[in-house]
Amino acid sequence: MEHKDFELQVPEEYTLAYHIDAANKKTGILMTLGAFVIMVAAIALVYAGIPKPWSFTLFAGDTGRFFLFWVVWLVLTVVYLVLHELTHGAVYKAMTHQKLRFGITWSAAFCGVPDIYTYRRVAILSLIAPLTVFTIIFVALGLWLRTFSTAWYLVVGMLFAVHISGCVGDMFMTFKFLTKYKDPRTLMRDTGPEQWVYVPEE
Ligand SMILES: [Zn+2]
Repeated sequence: MEHKDFELQVPEEYTLAYHIDAANKKTGILMTLGAFVIMVAAIALVYAGIPKPWSFTLFAGDTGRFFLFWVVWLVLTVVYLVLHELTHGAVYKAMTHQKLRFGITWSAAFCGVPDIYTYRRVAILSLIAPLTVFTIIFVALGLWLRTFSTAWYLVVGMLFAVHISGCVGDMFMTFKFLTKYKDPRTLMRDTGPEQWVYVPEE
């Protein structure tokens, strides 16, 4: 069965059903708050997973090592952010072969495919790709590191916390598609910070 992955224009019988802008003040603040709540929960989970016996003396008396820990985490966080957006882009590119748009706003990094309207299936695949790939990578890596290095377990654990909370926007849009816009003919335009959802009229 042949199916299209995208349209170049919104077909006439479609109407705009939803619009979200991550760079909008209110939306950005709500997303950041949501991300914060998820991050606190993730950090609690990571701490609960620290191999016993655990003490807060891991870096005690070793400021250099403590500093190094956060430098390594920060560098890896930046690398992760780039890889996260490239993963969205890889799905869009593979399924549409269209021009991508990468960037950053005050509230989020983004990857969009601004010139087209992708079908729901493509939209969902692109939305969940980084969430799925990096959750598997960080959980597997964390469980392995935990067996021999608490410090590296914590680095990856903190990366996981950044990852899972940073996916709040992706999770929100996926939730919208799964609960509200279930028609496979649903189209999404994704410029990066903004998404528009179009549905066929009944
Ligand atoms: Zn994302």
